[in-house]
Amino acid sequence: MTAAQKRIVGKAAGTTAVAVVAALAVFIISRWITGGTIDERDWLETILIPIVVGMPIACYVFAQAEKLQSAYMELAELNAVTERAHQQLKEAHEIIAFAARYDKMTGLLNREHFLDAVRAAHQAGERDVLLIIDADHFKRINDRYGHMKGDEALITIANSIRQAVRVQDEVGRLGGEEFGVLLKNAFSSTAVDLAENIRRHVSESLFCGSRDGAPVALTVSIGGATLADFPQGLTEVLAQADGCLYRAKRAGRNRVEFDTTLVQLVQSMARQDERKQQSTKN
Ligand code: GH3
Ligand code: MG
Ligand code: MG
Repeated sequence: MTAAQKRIVGKAAGTTAVAVVAALAVFIISRWITGGTIDERDWLETILIPIVVGMPIACYVFAQAEKLQSAYMELAELNAVTERAHQQLKEAHEIIAFAARYDKMTGLLNREHFLDAVRAAHQAGERDVLLIIDADHFKRINDRYGHMKGDEALITIANSIRQAVRVQDEVGRLGGEEFGVLLKNAFSSTAVDLAENIRRHVSESLFCGSRDGAPVALTVSIGGATLADFPQGLTEVLAQADGCLYRAKRAGRNRVEFDTTLVQLVQSMARQDERKQQSTKN
């Protein structure tokens, strides 16, 4: 006999015993009230009827209850398994969503998501500035030190860019050795300052091509465009930033180029500040 069968029989026997006692009590009280006599056949019927009728019914009822109980436990177990699977699926989904958003090598936003952020800012009419940043003579780094070292250099550049901008600015890898920065709510002078900051951070970064070799100079050229200056569309913003980047390359690299007059204005203001500081020192 299984444990479950023993449990069923035990409960049924207990219930039947209670039924026998109850039947006897009812029988004795009714005879006492009516004043009738009790013979052996009456005793036998009062005891046997609850046993013969009650015991199988009780067995059946408790067997059904047992089945229901085990079905309920199976269901609870299944529920827990489904819950765990659901949680694992949710975690996997989050990992996939993260991986789909970021560039694997540098940890920056990937091209698609970076451009989505720029597009959204442009459509919302934000006063943001787009920078396109391209590593200078990067092919030489790969040729001299190998592709793996080239990857390390790209990570160094990505980290320098991230360190040079503010927390609210978006930084992405547009592809290859080209990066993008969306300077949030930046006036042109702030944008030029931040772009200069990026250029300086990269040029001062420490990157060694070989273990015992001297540090290798990494530099970038930067072109910028203010989103609000091109209400026609994102294509025009990108074209302007690209054009400025091209100018920076042609002018000798390791440079920042925006709208020419603006950069000249900011640079002349910086020179004036420097001169003032010099004269106060002297
Ligand atoms: P410029 O100053 O004109 O931009 O010169 P450049 O050498 O940087 O430009 P070019 O377009 O000639 O070469 C870009 C190089 O960047 C070539 C390509 O192998 C390298 N590059 C692009 N993506 C990766 C990458 O993910 N890893 C490495 N190691 N190299 C890359
Ligand atoms: Mg390039
Ligand atoms: Mg390049």
